[in-house]
Amino acid sequence: MGGKYYVTANSGSRKIDNRPQVAIGFLIDAEESREIRRHLQRLQDTICRDLEQDFPEFTWSFRLIQRRDFPRDRPLDPLVLLEFGSELKIEYRLDFLLVLTSMPLMARFDQTVNGVPSNMLETGVVSLARPLENLDPERVDRAILALCRHLLGHLWGLDHDEHSVMRPRESWTGDGPLDWSPEEKEQVRTYLKDIADPRLEETGQAASTAWRFYGQLLRREGLSLARDILLFRSWRMVLHLGRFTAATAVSIIFLFLSAEAWELGAAIRSSWLDLILAAVLLMATLSIYFGQNLQEVGRADRMAEQAARSRIVLFGTLFVGMASFWINLFLISLGIIFVLPENVLAGWAGLGGQPLPMVHFSKLMATFGILASSLGGNLEEEHNLKAVLIYTEET
Ligand SMILES: [Zn+2]
Repeated sequence: MGGKYYVTANSGSRKIDNRPQVAIGFLIDAEESREIRRHLQRLQDTICRDLEQDFPEFTWSFRLIQRRDFPRDRPLDPLVLLEFGSELKIEYRLDFLLVLTSMPLMARFDQTVNGVPSNMLETGVVSLARPLENLDPERVDRAILALCRHLLGHLWGLDHDEHSVMRPRESWTGDGPLDWSPEEKEQVRTYLKDIADPRLEETGQAASTAWRFYGQLLRREGLSLARDILLFRSWRMVLHLGRFTAATAVSIIFLFLSAEAWELGAAIRSSWLDLILAAVLLMATLSIYFGQNLQEVGRADRMAEQAARSRIVLFGTLFVGMASFWINLFLISLGIIFVLPENVLAGWAGLGGQPLPMVHFSKLMATFGILASSLGGNLEEEHNLKAVLIYTEET
């Protein structure tokens, strides 16, 4: 983004403006009614005016994109819209994109859903269905504005806050607060400045092969990529995934009750187990990544930094998610082994009178658990896992 120095017409004379540019797109179905367009036009005008006022250190550009190939399968799946939007965002060279629709959205993890932001894709989906239920057209405008600001706030790294537009709400009715707090505006400023250096493909030094391009990106942006991956709190991933955790739990229980698993554990040396663990974590991540078609995310015709970035963050988040899942399994296994009678387990493991190496066996059980979970991950309701990784939230 940004860093594109561009020329603006200013009171008749052309002036070089070297403020970083932020380009925002609004994407709608070309078939939307005239009434919806009027609401959106007012929304765009208000957001445009306010952003220019609040963040004068950037130049803001806005673009309304109308598409005839807008996804129309009902119910509208926010995941489909996010992927559709993120591809167009790269195609139109935008920094952030909001996909707006008058149709209700399909809820995955919540009762109802009005909007879904995705930090990873720098794209958000907004449904105007609920705000449009207000009778007073002014309230409708206010509700849409609040919802869009809330989503943009998330795309710019803000968290929830009770005293600003970042307050989480059940329904968007146009009640205040409608704006970010001064502290939040400061945060947004830092966030936008942080990513305002030119994108790799704009620097003229970009490699032409995919592997080298990814290597360059990792060297340039390694730290900020790591921050994105860790900030995503991927340990929460499993909380949303019923089948994934169930498959793991069932297989661990069977493992604990089978003497063969214990014999096998006694036969594996500790140093090998570490190697096996690393291999299993990588394999499990790869199997879910390709099993759930995550390689489709961030697909672009040419090498683009944003697309490559989304993929690295996605893969890294999944890997960190699996690793933190392993740590949980390890602690649980350790707890179970501690509680079970030691002489029985040592007998199963064929250790004779020797003490039971608890850490070694806990590691083994957790590693088996990860193997089972990679299978469970692929059993998960289609696209749920993808949504868990890509959604910042459902609101
Ligand atoms: Zn929120």
